[in-house]
Amino acid sequence: HETATRRRRVLLKLSGEVFGGGKLGVDPGTVRGIAEQIASTVGEVETAIVVGGGNFFRGAELAESGMDRSRADYMGMLGTVMNCLALQDFLEQAGVETRVQSAISMAQVAEAYIPRRAIRHLEKDRVVIFGAGAGLPYFSTDTVAAQRALEVHADEVLMAKSGVDGVYTADPHKDPTAKKLDTLTYNDALRQNIRVMDQTAMTMCKDNKLDMLVFGMEGEGNVARALRGERIGTTVTV
Ligand code: UDP
Repeated sequence: HETATRRRRVLLKLSGEVFGGGKLGVDPGTVRGIAEQIASTVGEVETAIVVGGGNFFRGAELAESGMDRSRADYMGMLGTVMNCLALQDFLEQAGVETRVQSAISMAQVAEAYIPRRAIRHLEKDRVVIFGAGAGLPYFSTDTVAAQRALEVHADEVLMAKSGVDGVYTADPHKDPTAKKLDTLTYNDALRQNIRVMDQTAMTMCKDNKLDMLVFGMEGEGNVARALRGERIGTTVTV
């Protein structure tokens, strides 16, 4: 299957914020909208998804209020699984076959993370949703997105952001002269300490020559456009 005629395969990273619609928990209308956009591209694009959990818990924040960091991180990972199940439900309502694979075993709700099986699902037009991060404290779901993309041989990582539509020369919320960049190298992003992306994820993509698109969720149909390969947002390359 690793031939020139192979379909486009992508790893879409959805942060927890896009599930919450700005609140704690899951906003069903928002998740349904995302699911319908993904559904519109099935058959054209093979899509694996890593979901974040920031709409429930972030380990680093809980640790600041006195919790043990590792336990707090496990809470964060469990939050991502709730997002996975919400997305799975709306994808299936939109007629898409899906599988959730969790890095923490919970056989009643998700398959185990088995990369070769994930690839088979993708080839059969199933959307694969990866939950529970890496199953390891001290990691972020952005880093997991880079790792899963590499392991399932995705052509590109698509980082969906909310509140920003790409990488800017400065923080666009603070600096009115900030300009959006169409392209950027990993070296420049790392050197300039670009905050919109996780440094570990960028280093992993750079070392393995994997392109990344950083794009905003807000524009109409943006998720489907990014899945199909439209150059919305900022492309980060080696
Ligand atoms: N997390 C973790 N290991 C992982 C992935 C996630 O410990 O491999 C925890 C971590 O506490 C993190 C939380 O899960 O804060 C939610 O993930 P993240 O903050 O990456 O979600 P996002 O910002 O994308 O919503």
